[in-house]
Amino acid sequence: MAICPVQAIAMREDREGFLYPKINKKKCIDCGQCSLVCPMKRENPSPELKGQENAGRWLYIGAQAKEEDLRYKSSSGGVFPVLARNVLKKGGVVFGAVMCEDGVVRHKMAQREEELAPMQKTKYVQSSLEGSFENVRNCLKEGRPVLFTGTPCQCRAMRLYLERKKEKPGGDGESWERTLSENLLLADLVCYGAPSPGIWRKYLRELEKKYGGKLSGFCFRDKREKDNGHTVSFSVGNKEYAHPMGEDSFCRVYFRDYTLRPACYFCKFCTTERESDITMGDFWGIEKVRPKMEDGMGTSLVILRSAKAKKTWEEVKEHFRYFQCGRKEILQPRLREPVLWPGRRWRFMLLNQFLPVSLAERLLRK
Ligand SMILES: Cc1cc2nc3c(=O)[nH]c(=O)nc-3n(C[C@H](O)[C@H](O)[C@H](O)COP(=O)(O)OP(=O)(O)OC[C@H]3O[C@@H](n4cnc5c(N)ncnc54)[C@H](O)[C@@H]3O)c2cc1C
Repeated sequence: MAICPVQAIAMREDREGFLYPKINKKKCIDCGQCSLVCPMKRENPSPELKGQENAGRWLYIGAQAKEEDLRYKSSSGGVFPVLARNVLKKGGVVFGAVMCEDGVVRHKMAQREEELAPMQKTKYVQSSLEGSFENVRNCLKEGRPVLFTGTPCQCRAMRLYLERKKEKPGGDGESWERTLSENLLLADLVCYGAPSPGIWRKYLRELEKKYGGKLSGFCFRDKREKDNGHTVSFSVGNKEYAHPMGEDSFCRVYFRDYTLRPACYFCKFCTTERESDITMGDFWGIEKVRPKMEDGMGTSLVILRSAKAKKTWEEVKEHFRYFQCGRKEILQPRLREPVLWPGRRWRFMLLNQFLPVSLAERLLRK
């Protein structure tokens, strides 16, 4: 939608609650730009990436932010907020996913430190990028450093969009390329898959009905139990509720793989071979690799690929307890292969059209 030169594309929600581009054929001029920037239609990874990884040019790191409050308020080891502060310090801008007051997860822009807190913590909902492509481009054009964080497909889409935009008539291709290589830092996530925003909205309404009031502060990865964030919490009025993630119906259907976007089951980014500068995720198996670091409060895995990423790490590493390790130690399922399409997905989606999420989930348990 953002790349279209004649605004012929609008986003429409399907029955499963995902947004898809809809092209107005009367307006479309067949320029093909939308296909060229689609991360699903482009080849990934390029063979060059494998070569770089094999040549040992990438660094694999386990890290915990030293500032305990910062780590507590993050999902893993708090790598994101430290990177973000560093960019803001340089007069830069940070893009990340925020759960807005209406419960919709959207990518927003932060220019001040207070704006980073809502970006912290994983939201298990596909976030809307509306406006972000143009905003990132404008900030880069103003010469400001930009940190864009998101799922690997969102980061890839951002780069493809920005690279194509250099070809605009009148643009200076060479200096735009330099701007991208100097000022744009892409930090993607290890990603299980993106759950349906429509089902999330429906689930929120169900919770509000059940608890009798407006819901706020939903947290998918609360660390109060020192369980690496496997607790879900939220507030209704003045009352706070918290329960294990396994007892939350939305999380249950997510981790049973019923609510992922269809493309996620064929994801090309479930590998370490990606083009982003940095990858952030949970350090699974930290209890085996560094038992003394495992305290139930989250450890991040970090992959540093580009020279820019390594330079950034040098600037921020004093804020972490960290260790360097091998590729084998950071590998986890979503860096090897995507989630399998479950046989019962269609049944869940059908039941979900008529029943509350929690009831559809319960019926499928049998
Ligand atoms: C849908 C989803 C699935 C994930 N699956 C896995 C997994 O299987 N294995 C694993 O190791 N890690 C997974 N992660 C990543 C992990 O949960 C942490 O987000 C990551 O390690 C960063 O943690 P942090 O402590 O450094 O940052 P935090 O301070 O917690 O910051 C969170 C970061 O995630 C971004 N973010 C949050 N929600 C979304 C969203 N909906 N869409 C795009 N970006 C978002 C924010 O912009 C921010 O950059 C997943 C994240 C998401 C969003």
